[in-house]
Amino acid sequence: MSTEARSNFLKTQIQSDLDGGLVEQLVTRFPPEPNGFLHLGHAKSITVNFELASRFGGRCHLRFDDTNPEKENKVFIEAIQEDVRWLGYKWDGEVRFASSYFQQLYEWALHLVEQGLAYVCDLSAEEARDYRGSLTEAGRDSPFRCRSVDENRRLFEGMRAGEYAEGSRVLRAKIDMAAPNINLRDPILYRIRTAHHHQTGGEWPIYPTYDFAHGQGDAIEGITHSICTLEFEDHRPLYDWFIEHLPVPNRPRQYEFARLNTSYTLTSKRKLKHLVDAGVVTGWDDPRMPTLAGLRRRGYPAGAIRHFCEEIGTSRSDSVVDVAMLESAVRNQLNESAPRAMAVLNPLPLTLTNLSTPATLSVANHPNNEDMGTREVPLTAEVLIDAADFREEANKKYKRLVLGKRVRLRGAYVIEADSCDYDATGAVSRVYARIIEGTLGEDPPDGIKARGVIHWVSASSGVRAEVRCYDRLFSDPNPGRTEDVMAVVNPGSLRCIEDAVIEASLAHAEPEQVFQFEREGYFVADRFDHCRERPVFNMTIGLRDTWNTANA
Ligand code: ATP
Ligand code: MG
Repeated sequence: MSTEARSNFLKTQIQSDLDGGLVEQLVTRFPPEPNGFLHLGHAKSITVNFELASRFGGRCHLRFDDTNPEKENKVFIEAIQEDVRWLGYKWDGEVRFASSYFQQLYEWALHLVEQGLAYVCDLSAEEARDYRGSLTEAGRDSPFRCRSVDENRRLFEGMRAGEYAEGSRVLRAKIDMAAPNINLRDPILYRIRTAHHHQTGGEWPIYPTYDFAHGQGDAIEGITHSICTLEFEDHRPLYDWFIEHLPVPNRPRQYEFARLNTSYTLTSKRKLKHLVDAGVVTGWDDPRMPTLAGLRRRGYPAGAIRHFCEEIGTSRSDSVVDVAMLESAVRNQLNESAPRAMAVLNPLPLTLTNLSTPATLSVANHPNNEDMGTREVPLTAEVLIDAADFREEANKKYKRLVLGKRVRLRGAYVIEADSCDYDATGAVSRVYARIIEGTLGEDPPDGIKARGVIHWVSASSGVRAEVRCYDRLFSDPNPGRTEDVMAVVNPGSLRCIEDAVIEASLAHAEPEQVFQFEREGYFVADRFDHCRERPVFNMTIGLRDTWNTANA
């Protein structure tokens, strides 16, 4: 199925709403709760809302759903805005806050009270649960349900004035305690809470619930299509009930699509927070985290994430997308955009016994893109190769350097290994090799070919660097299925190499610049820790074919 066909159900709906004159201009919103950093699942929601708005010439708002002050804070508000911008989107107008509508929401709650459609209930949380019934059993009316309008008004105004203790009473809608949909069994509209709010400070001793704030916030902003994930489908009748019973300025509609679930990925802020709090990762932006800030720091390009979100489509059926699809989008993009360079992660000295004078080689920055230019790479008698690229003996399948055999140094000569030294433990400590004259960009004149190509760095001009190699953070393909996140953390998810050696040019990389380290993978200069004096690179992703032996 084409991408176009797969992702069509919201487009079809919107097109018909526009054609039928139900709406004039599409207005969508992305409504995060500022209680953590955004994750890959949110990227899906962001692309859906912003891309639809852009496709249909509409607008998309960014609105913080900030009705839960205890768990929210300003750090998350800043981080979320930065993530949305980084993903490549610009929201319409100023950033918006549900808390800006607290006064209007309060007045609308009073309106319901006046209409006899809301009442103050003094049941404890436990009693209320008992009265609510279950999926198979109708609920029972609260004994406070028959309070008069006057009494309800007085009590609700008292709640607003901060006269009652937290948890002592709530405001509930008066709908139907026997409704098969539990969301309609007199849902809570307001709770008493003494928490300090990051936007409104101590102004409000009562806070609206998500259900009461969300649809009305949509109505205030003129949202036409309130797009959310499937778990809110059962809330839609309540969403519509509020809109029908309140004097709102316009009538938004809610549409649901399936959440993005990706294998080996956690998409729950609550559980991700647990990893941060427990110190399993260095923070919300640890490069192993499936947060947008983590993926960014890992070197994933925003364009690859957008492409992935588009490609998987938008449907109404739950499924798990293989994380390999995202990884492949990242590789495809970086293969095009990342300049090549050389870095030796596990250095082994190699002496070129017949190189009398150092040479400066001009090496292409990209094999298929001349526009990316060339760089100068010094070749000296002392070079470093990766320890895994040399063996004293090996069969023909080993396409690297072997005593008495030949290999090409990437971008330089074909060399032949003659001998090696050993350290006290018997491990190879140095290789001696000869360059074969006439092999710069040419096959050996004697017809004895190289087995493969290996990367290298000049020992005298190379720069020491820290390279952080990452593996998947979770060892379980479905880390979300357990409450105990610790049990599914991969203990080997970070391997820190302190003494890698990189080409001198790489020390000049800008933070966040991504390179392909030849034969190793893609690596990004760390956004925060990298500097010229102390280069730090994070592994973005490995190459599909690690031992590619194509010509230099
Ligand atoms: P979490 O459980 O991680 O806190 P959430 O849904 O509570 O997620 P919100 O900040 O309330 O997080 O979400 C903002 C928007 O992002 C909502 O519209 C929500 O439906 C959407 N969203 C969250 N997770 C996903 C996901 N995995 N796939 C698609 N959309 C998602
Ligand atoms: Mg939420």
